[in-house]
Amino acid sequence: MRIKKNDTVKVITGKDAGKTGKVLVALPKENRIVVEGVNVQKKHKKARKAQDVSKIEEQNGAIQASNAMVVCPKCGKTTRVAYAVEGDKKIRVCKKCGGALDAAKEVKEVKKAAKKSAAKAAEKTEEKKTKSASGAKKTSSGAKKSAAEKTASGAKKSTAAKKTTAKKAEDADKAE
Ligand SMILES: [Zn+2]
Repeated sequence: MRIKKNDTVKVITGKDAGKTGKVLVALPKENRIVVEGVNVQKKHKKARKAQDVSKIEEQNGAIQASNAMVVCPKCGKTTRVAYAVEGDKKIRVCKKCGGALDAAKEVKEVKKAAKKSAAKAAEKTEEKKTKSASGAKKTSSGAKKSAAEKTASGAKKSTAAKKTTAKKAEDADKAE
């Protein structure tokens, strides 16, 4: 299929003939595309939960890819797609003006993706740092608490022990 996602296409046949729109989904296996504002279908969505509201939603339906033509971003004409080899890559070009149809877009998208992944990685490392810091805090405070408790309980025990010994001594005195 010569049409790809994010292409601008013009529908040439069917009920939406003449409309232009951006390709939202490309289904190469079915040779179909979903175009923004083309083959709009109404779906009656009934409320199934208490907080839902019944409504009629509009969806973009798929159309045959052969019913649409790519609009060249360079010359603005509807065109057939030719292929050219640039370096190791096969790129799509406009058959009318020879301009690349997707090279510039793809580069931008790749850059965006790279930025996103870098940002995500940075976030992750920050999260890890904060997590480890809080963990350290917890362990230190926990250690302090347990130590304090131990000493306190130890002190209690020792006093209790003293009391019992004192009692034993008293008993011994009484016995005598
Ligand atoms: Zn062109």
